[in-house]
Amino acid sequence: MSYIEPAPIVDKDNPLDSMMSRFDEAVRLLGIDEEMYYILKVPARQVVVGLPITMDNGKIKVFEGYRVIHSNILGPAKGGIRFAPDVNLDEIKALAAWMTWKCAVVDIPYGGAKGGIACNPREMSAGEMERLVRTYTNAMLSVFGPDRDIPAPDMGTGPREMAWLMDEYSKAYGMTINAVVTGKPLVLGGSLGRVEATGRGVMVCTMTGLEKLRINPYKATCAVQGFGNVGSHAANLLDERGVKILAISDLSGAYYCQKGIDIAKAMEYSAKNNNSLEGIDKAFGYDKISNEELLTLQVDVLVPAAKEDVIDEEIAKKLQCRLIVEGANGPTVADADPIINEKGIMAVPDILANAGGVTVSYFEWVQNRLGYKWTLERINRRSDRIMKDAFDRVYQTSLDYKVSLRIAAYIVAIDKVAKTYKYRGGY
Ligand code: NAD
Repeated sequence: MSYIEPAPIVDKDNPLDSMMSRFDEAVRLLGIDEEMYYILKVPARQVVVGLPITMDNGKIKVFEGYRVIHSNILGPAKGGIRFAPDVNLDEIKALAAWMTWKCAVVDIPYGGAKGGIACNPREMSAGEMERLVRTYTNAMLSVFGPDRDIPAPDMGTGPREMAWLMDEYSKAYGMTINAVVTGKPLVLGGSLGRVEATGRGVMVCTMTGLEKLRINPYKATCAVQGFGNVGSHAANLLDERGVKILAISDLSGAYYCQKGIDIAKAMEYSAKNNNSLEGIDKAFGYDKISNEELLTLQVDVLVPAAKEDVIDEEIAKKLQCRLIVEGANGPTVADADPIINEKGIMAVPDILANAGGVTVSYFEWVQNRLGYKWTLERINRRSDRIMKDAFDRVYQTSLDYKVSLRIAAYIVAIDKVAKTYKYRGGY
């Protein structure tokens, strides 16, 4: 058995490098051999395409599009499509790997993938976007498929783009194939519960974490960074369960109320205010605090649900919470992990905490294949069970290996994929 040295962290503030360093640590603890290490690390397939599009001014512009299938060992690959100016193959490769571990940790039968196009959706008309999505779909006809690779929305894409993708793919095969993509509008076979699914998973992880720490949710306090899709729904669902949300934040700033923020009203305010909390301090008499103050507040639970790299070593030293539940992807830099562990803070890692979204995407695919629609009650019950079971599995693994929940989550995921590969075998 040979052991792999951890890859040097090239850029300690890069969330993808942070992910790889944790992957390497879990691989070492599992005693995975060198052959298996490369099977798990190297993407199964990488596709790069040139996409010539006629722009509204009549000129043709060529975009570069990517799709990386990191792994299809557990089943068809699953992962979003990102439209952003700085999208590149390296980033897509790393994000595809991230999806492999996320699907494996919650035990859904998918491998990991990610796609993207280097473009600026803010500067493109609806017509240009539609031509780009349809051309990309055509170029990926042999990659995508309900049994091969199932895309979903990511940064810069949403239900509208998924509808075009589903339509273009269906046209090519001469029949409606809605299971080829998830995150579709409801009328096209989208799933109930998808919008709040990630926030709901964050809530389930928080409630389970509080239970393990023996903290009564009715006496618990919480701060939530980010008030978008994940943060607002997580805050709302926790508020409904008796957890007092002392602070929330978005790009406009952070807001504090000792008696607890009225989350329902804050959601209403943000919706009416162009998805911004700007001015909520004056409207409801809340205190405006700094972003750092929010992260380091004396609360039981901290939910970072905005962006990557917000908990660095400096912030970690000042943390006063007992439980962190990572709604965002990569909010904690790898160098902050030891500080968090030393302080005895329980940190539920992103690959577990925000997997509620991909879980309900999986339910969308299941419903499409069944040709049937589940009720919201059934979706919530089943996704809550998947999240709770995954939490318990990771928690038990952390006790067995005497490691943090983060490393335990990677151990659970890597072990599952490696074992499945061994059973399936190779040449
Ligand atoms: P979103 O765009 O809906 O919301 C992001 C929120 O964060 C906004 O309120 C924004 O104002 C705020 N924000 C941005 N920068 C900030 C800063 N510096 N300080 C404070 N607030 C800031 O995005 P989302 O879908 O809620 O995603 C949030 C995070 O969760 C991302 O890391 C995303 O990758 C991750 N995630 C999302 C999903 C999902 O289903 N939406 C699933 C898994 C992971």
